[in-house]
Amino acid sequence: MGLKSRFCPRCGSDANVSEGLCANCKFEKVEPKLPQKVVVRICRDCGAVNWRGIWVKTDESPEYYLTLALEKGARLPPSSVIKKLEIKKMGRKGKVDLVFEIDDKRFEQTMQSDIYVKDSRCQDCGNVLSQDHRAIVQVRDKKNEKKILDFAEKYREFIIKIEDQREGVDFYMLSKDSARHLATDLRKHFKFSSMTVSHRQYSWDQSKNRPKTRINISLRQDD
Ligand SMILES: [Zn+2]
Ligand SMILES: [Zn+2]
Repeated sequence: MGLKSRFCPRCGSDANVSEGLCANCKFEKVEPKLPQKVVVRICRDCGAVNWRGIWVKTDESPEYYLTLALEKGARLPPSSVIKKLEIKKMGRKGKVDLVFEIDDKRFEQTMQSDIYVKDSRCQDCGNVLSQDHRAIVQVRDKKNEKKILDFAEKYREFIIKIEDQREGVDFYMLSKDSARHLATDLRKHFKFSSMTVSHRQYSWDQSKNRPKTRINISLRQDD
């Protein structure tokens, strides 16, 4: 071993040197960074976690997956090994305690990242629900379809599923009220010329001794 490997060419230190730099200089050269934002979606019904696009049935907490996402997305100085990564505060400007080592030298930092758990619904639970929808909003306006889908985003927690149709889309809704809201909102915003509502009996409610109904709301542009 020559001088080259023993001393840091940048600061002259002989402590914790590898690959041509000491730990302190590596630390100074690459500022540690966590991803600006991490989000994990959780199924509100069964607790499944959406990890990189796949629904995972798991007993692990959402924090476990958020921690994984932070670790994977972290940009650290060369030769860093993460020893501890702990979420201290969730939400906007969340706080993370990070401990890592560079060539056995220990660094500790409190870092910032936007850390969110989002309510969602997994495919399985969505499928069960879709047999139990209370209303359908049929929107027939193919040329505005993308805008309509964007617009409907704010109703997402009431939407069970969306089905693409030849002349537009069908929104399967959890409740009649949410269907009416969505339809009225869409009608106003996209200036639909007609809105028709129809009720359909689909079974009998024994407890109330009356039919259970679904509603269909249809929005069209007459040209
Ligand atoms: Zn150095
Ligand atoms: Zn689920």
